[in-house]
Amino acid sequence: MSVLGLTDEVEGFLETLLREMEDFAALHHVPIINERGRQAFLQVVQKAQPHRVLEIGTAIGYSSLLLAMNGAEDIAITTLELSDERIRTAQGYIDRSAYADRIRIIGGDAAENLTKLQLTGQKFDFVFIDAAKGQYVDYFHKIQPMLTDNATILADNVLFRGYVKGDVPTPRRFKTIVKRLREYIGLVSQPPYVTEILENGDGLAVTRRV
Ligand code: SAH
Ligand code: MG
Repeated sequence: MSVLGLTDEVEGFLETLLREMEDFAALHHVPIINERGRQAFLQVVQKAQPHRVLEIGTAIGYSSLLLAMNGAEDIAITTLELSDERIRTAQGYIDRSAYADRIRIIGGDAAENLTKLQLTGQKFDFVFIDAAKGQYVDYFHKIQPMLTDNATILADNVLFRGYVKGDVPTPRRFKTIVKRLREYIGLVSQPPYVTEILENGDGLAVTRRV
């Protein structure tokens, strides 16, 4: 048995599947969590050991599988994605993994689906926000009623190529996104929330309720 509680054979197979997905993402320019961000992401997930996960932005299912492999034994993941083509690709990979019964993809606009999810009364102890960067503030407002008391909220790309900290001048076309990401950081940095920003990759905001 390995650290993940899987047999070496299954783990080897999953690693091969992940490498295949990384190659697919590179070839088709799919922005999966990048190599530097990945280690920080895994550390947060392994520490939190989440049971009920909400992911906003499935892409091809790469981070969904990382979550499934590194979360609690009874993990269940609901993941939201807009693109039908990406959903098909993600479902194909997920079906080949050992986690098909753990990951449910909901297609359509995430903001709309979050409103619908609220009505189901479901709670999540871990949320990974990684879709439209201009909408993180809206996503955060919508997930709030669905959080357990000890929930962790992770948001990717919050430093957006250095523009958010002002280290790199923001090109005109990104000004709105950068302004909104700064708003997001402000929002999750005030009570009852505390946020730590990991600067690996494109900036990962780790938020907890205190
Ligand atoms: N979490 C993935 C990467 C997600 S990339 C990983 O790390 O492996 C961001 C994804 O968000 C893209 O696939 C994009 O299609 C999706 N997206 C963008 N806007 C969206 C919206 N309004 N609703 C749902 N998904 C959206
Ligand atoms: Mg991302």
